[in-house]
Amino acid sequence: MSQEISGAEDQAVKAYGWAARDSSGVLSPFHFTRRGNGDNDISMKILYCGICHSDLHLAKDEVGMTIYPIVPGHEIVGEVTKVGRNVTKFKVGDIAGVGCMVGSCRSCDNCTQDLENYCPKMVWTYNKHHEDGSRTFGGYSDKIVVDEHFVVQIPKNLPLQGTAPMLCAGITVYSPMRYFGLMEPGKHLGVVGLGGLGHMAVKFAKAVGAKVTVISTSPNKKKEAVEQLGVDEFLISHDQEQLQAAMGTMDGIIDTVSAAHPLLHLVGLLKTNGKLILVGAPIQPPELPVFPLILGRKLVAGSAIGGMKETQEMIDFAAKHNITADVEVIPMDYVNTALERVAKADVKYRFVIDVANTIKSPY
Ligand code: NAP
Ligand code: ZN
Ligand code: ZN
Repeated sequence: MSQEISGAEDQAVKAYGWAARDSSGVLSPFHFTRRGNGDNDISMKILYCGICHSDLHLAKDEVGMTIYPIVPGHEIVGEVTKVGRNVTKFKVGDIAGVGCMVGSCRSCDNCTQDLENYCPKMVWTYNKHHEDGSRTFGGYSDKIVVDEHFVVQIPKNLPLQGTAPMLCAGITVYSPMRYFGLMEPGKHLGVVGLGGLGHMAVKFAKAVGAKVTVISTSPNKKKEAVEQLGVDEFLISHDQEQLQAAMGTMDGIIDTVSAAHPLLHLVGLLKTNGKLILVGAPIQPPELPVFPLILGRKLVAGSAIGGMKETQEMIDFAAKHNITADVEVIPMDYVNTALERVAKADVKYRFVIDVANTIKSPY
């Protein structure tokens, strides 16, 4: 079954993607429209789109804020097919990237400090409305139209499949690691959850010469993590002996876990003044014991993606250090199986949809 959604603007273009219609989260083909290309916009033919765990949270309405039908996807790499008359960063044929946001007010305190990601009027790439009231739809689709401010340039040396996940997974860990001073030589970083976000945190930290310890529920990920990602130590989160031996050793921890889990032992792993940064987004509030924080002046913080300037900086850093995500490339019609596998933490470490070659767009 497919249906048509009308956009609010003139010269809207027909688009085709895969959408979930209800909280089963099952995706199927979907016809809709996107706005015409405005003066500040670029249009892109989508080539690849990563599958973030947030896509799963939202497709299944785990957060209670999903507007159906929903076309997920905010790790988008594509080819520029049209540019508006005010566009300066792109020309037709360029390769470009779009992450989690496609709009913001551009004038609040956050926006003027390159923190569009914290703008109260920030527009998510999908499951939101544009200023004109029309819906946003994500990258599990054939094309997208975006204000160039929210598009990054992709350096030529980066392989595109592994670059797509950096538009969300990459920036989500890069930004707090930079801000909290954890991406520095000699620092000891803990990474909780070796999934899409977690493995990017490992790569960025190793690139600057930090020591990295992964804290994982999956013993089967250890060998590859050590041999291929260069992880220094790999702790199993339910092995009390291993955790005990590592207490008080870490400068910071990036917690990327997507489900509720205890935080007490993570606080214990930190040195005095250590920082526990939560980027994973479990629905249930965590239990946070106060005394272990007080007795060690420890900090717990959250962080959401990153601003556009920093996203470009992250992509350029990745290009300089030859960093991309480790991906399993899949055809569009494998997406439902892929989402089931994401739920089971059964992917090393990111699914990326080969959109251009497999979506079979009629437009
Ligand atoms: P992912 O690839 O599924 O990775 C999550 C990892 O967490 C899994 O690989 C697994 O690692 C661990 N895990 C899963 N279930 C667990 C459980 N019940 N207990 C303990 N560990 C568990 O997901 P992702 O795409 O990296 O996203 C991770 C989280 O970050 C999601 O909640 C997502 O919505 C959120 N997110 C936040 C932002 C932001 O701006 N803050 C941006 C993007 C995503 P092990 O097998 O190693 O244990
Ligand atoms: Zn994401
Ligand atoms: Zn703003």
